[in-house]
Amino acid sequence: MPSGASALPTAPALLDVYARVGPLFVRGEGVELIADNGTRYLDFVAGIGVNALGYNHPVIRAAVERALGSGLIHVSNLYRSDAGERLAEELVARSFADRAFFCNSGAEANEAAFKFARKWSGKSEIVAFSGSFHGRLFATLAATDRPDYRKPFEPLVPGIRIVPREDWAAVDHAVSASRTAAVIVEPVQGEGGVRPVDAEWLGFVRELCDSRGVAIIFDEVQCGLGRTGSLFAYEQAGVVPDILTLAKPLAGGLPMGAVLVTSAVAAALKPGDHATTFGGGPLVASVALEVVRTIADPAFLADVRRKAEWLGARLARLAAGAPRVAEVRGRGLMWGLELAEPAAPIVAAARDRGLLVVTAGPQVVRLLPPLVITLEELERGVAILEELLA
Ligand SMILES: *Cc1c(COP(=O)(O)O)cnc(C)c1O
Repeated sequence: MPSGASALPTAPALLDVYARVGPLFVRGEGVELIADNGTRYLDFVAGIGVNALGYNHPVIRAAVERALGSGLIHVSNLYRSDAGERLAEELVARSFADRAFFCNSGAEANEAAFKFARKWSGKSEIVAFSGSFHGRLFATLAATDRPDYRKPFEPLVPGIRIVPREDWAAVDHAVSASRTAAVIVEPVQGEGGVRPVDAEWLGFVRELCDSRGVAIIFDEVQCGLGRTGSLFAYEQAGVVPDILTLAKPLAGGLPMGAVLVTSAVAAALKPGDHATTFGGGPLVASVALEVVRTIADPAFLADVRRKAEWLGARLARLAAGAPRVAEVRGRGLMWGLELAEPAAPIVAAARDRGLLVVTAGPQVVRLLPPLVITLEELERGVAILEELLA
């Protein structure tokens, strides 16, 4: 157990855009982070969904070592390299998509998706929804429903609007056959409070977009790649996008994003339309290939679903005994406890007891444990939360 987990002074040489707290982490093992004083923390944040296979996973270690053995960390996209091509084949084979583009982060993937949708549609407007988070670059910030993130950086990119989520009339009104290039939606909203989006409404948006020549972009940066118990979250919604973005867990902790597109969208793009120096390089792509293969294994996904079912029931039980918990929402191993009070003090108190959780908005405690977590480890974490919220 951590003893008071003293907050370090903010690192004086780092730009103060993060409110970093607590321990200095020096090692990771499985689902635990280990601080410089030896204290172990059960990690229900997993790098905000990045470390899906936990820490020091043998598959990732081996992939990194193998990739380094070739001497190729980077090869320019001016030339061919093997790992990126194989990763694209793997993602295409396992999804609705026909082509993949690789970049380096979630925001970059969404920015690319906007450009692809504009080029494909010949139109410019983007529609996003309340509660959304799509990134912090200029176009993605304009599609992100967080006034505090947006305000200091106005004017934002024009032509991007946010309309109420799950509002049938609002989306019908906002999506224009003559102006709208794309709608973007997270099938399960993450930062916005962990909200699975109503599948029937998504189906309605799909129909609207089909009839009006508008692309649907699913942002699965957080909810994709096994997090909800299927390889992609859209499989559970039963609605297929035209464009899908991935990032967080894709390359096992190395920075990587991907944009998956249909052949129709791909046909609108030609050499020179988009590029990024590092995207899909040999090191990140070979690690991502192993991550995708590991997560896509039906036995792995079945195990995630089994743990998800257990966790959902366990959290419902927690909430039933804790009036401070107003609502429990989630899918798979992605859950939010909406509190009747600010979430930050609970997050801090959990950390003091050796459990890392994160907020998702002011009153939601978010759980995103590594997908490799065991039931015993899940119970250990939930028991700490239960005690704190009792
Ligand atoms: C984290 C996140 C992003 C942004 O990803 P970055 O890699 O931080 O740019 C975009 N969309 C969703 C749903 C996310 O959770």
